[in-house]
Amino acid sequence: MTAQGGHIHLIIGAGITAAAFLDRLHLTAGDTLIVLAPDPLSLGRGAAYAAGQPGTPWRYSYLLNSPADDIDPAFAEWLVQNWDYVTERMADRTPNWLAAAQSLVEAGDVYGVNAPREFYGDFMVEQTQERIAGLRAQGVSVLPKVGIATTIASDGDDLVVTLQSGETLDVHSVDVAPGGPSNLRIHGDDGPYSAPALFGYEERIAEHIQNGAEIFCIGGNAAMLDTLRLCQSYLPNDALRFVACAPDGEVPPPLIPRLPRKLTRPTFSTGHETAESFLTEAAAAIAKAKSEGDEMREIRAGFRAFFLEHPLSEFVTNPEEAKRIPATFRFWLRGGTRDTILDMRTLVAKGQVQMMTGSVTNIRHSATSALVEIQDSTGGKTEHSTGFVVNCAGAGPGSEFDPLTTNMLANGHLHRCPISKGLKVGTALKTALPNVRFLSPAVTVIGDEVMAMPLYDAHMLRTYVERSSCVSL
Ligand SMILES: Cc1cc2nc3c(=O)[nH]c(=O)nc-3n(C[C@H](O)[C@H](O)[C@H](O)COP(=O)(O)OP(=O)(O)OC[C@H]3O[C@@H](n4cnc5c(N)ncnc54)[C@H](O)[C@@H]3O)c2cc1C
Repeated sequence: MTAQGGHIHLIIGAGITAAAFLDRLHLTAGDTLIVLAPDPLSLGRGAAYAAGQPGTPWRYSYLLNSPADDIDPAFAEWLVQNWDYVTERMADRTPNWLAAAQSLVEAGDVYGVNAPREFYGDFMVEQTQERIAGLRAQGVSVLPKVGIATTIASDGDDLVVTLQSGETLDVHSVDVAPGGPSNLRIHGDDGPYSAPALFGYEERIAEHIQNGAEIFCIGGNAAMLDTLRLCQSYLPNDALRFVACAPDGEVPPPLIPRLPRKLTRPTFSTGHETAESFLTEAAAAIAKAKSEGDEMREIRAGFRAFFLEHPLSEFVTNPEEAKRIPATFRFWLRGGTRDTILDMRTLVAKGQVQMMTGSVTNIRHSATSALVEIQDSTGGKTEHSTGFVVNCAGAGPGSEFDPLTTNMLANGHLHRCPISKGLKVGTALKTALPNVRFLSPAVTVIGDEVMAMPLYDAHMLRTYVERSSCVSL
């Protein structure tokens, strides 16, 4: 495809970051927008808010990890306006999401529900399609393009984007929003009694759930909670056998909204020379908030709001030290879906769900089951025999990026931060290629600023796109 006159802008990706780039585009009549992704017509959904498979028990099982108004107040209002559509789809489902949401609905707080993620995808697609219709009405050509980008090269005033198919696109500017890295792989995680991930492997896992096998989940994060929901969609709670194994061995705290909504308002002193000194003060701020009765939702949302207004550089003088902070905040401020975590606590108390502490290092398969090797923090090893293993470990050493991010890193268009282990982009999300911006949840450094809170949060991603768009390319 070659430029035909007018400015040609390319968005790579179809998740919420790509949608945020779309929202901030300034194109006029005669210009062209190309959206390149495996599923460009679902722009706004991406990996997290994908449409489920019709007819499966687990459709609509996966929930947003925070209350609807935390992810986007406009989505919370959409839920209110579309409540009949939502209740119709959620009727007679197991787990009974409507019953879990009932107390909030009765309190007039639909904004506080943990909505099924697919509904957020529905909302996002509605928004992006409206925006695209608006661009078309202004005379901008909008072209969805199915494919995966592998490289971007600068060629005079143009950029040449190569696709996995070998096709090339000549464009003038590009926003790259390819999502985060893959699950880290663990030896033996793709065998007769294991799956390397939850998403895309549901049918295979479901066979074992239905046979009554114990399901062993590697990791204690959001995908682990989704795996429990998958199990619950097939079996009643009293028939479940589920193990989650994570280095901290703890059920994450639930993010519970209260009325009236409240945000913790931390304060920090300036001039910290080390990460340790700043984190000591942050730990005290979190402990103080808890002692005053603040819930994790309030602390997490409060810290997020605070650091969007006050960059870490205001408090930590050494940027290299600042880079040590996001991983710790990620751990301290972790939290998850209220509905699933409350169920999980009950199931732990009944002995049907077991939390194990340690890191899985290997999975062996016998004729009928899997044997999981687990290492504790002192290096001690144990083994656990189980029915089926699901790898929900999340990103880690050995995780892979999509082909374009991998290529941009190899060519020095993007960089890795050796301390925070995330990606570094320039001011206003610029890359080393002219007129190419990049943002993904894996970014930890933007220009001179270290992100205090990881960008694995829709609101943060949108905010940084918005800020970058105030600066021209
Ligand atoms: C399962 C899951 C649940 C989550 N739940 C929540 C939640 O409840 N609340 C919350 O705030 N956050 C949640 N998150 C965090 C989530 O990462 C962000 O909220 C957000 O969805 C990230 O959006 P994104 O557009 O940056 O990436 P993605 O949604 O991953 O989208 C990336 C897009 O780029 C495409 N792509 C990738 N590489 C290429 C390429 N080379 N060429 C072309 N296209 C490419 C992909 O196909 C995809 O369309 C969740 C994440 C996951 C994975």
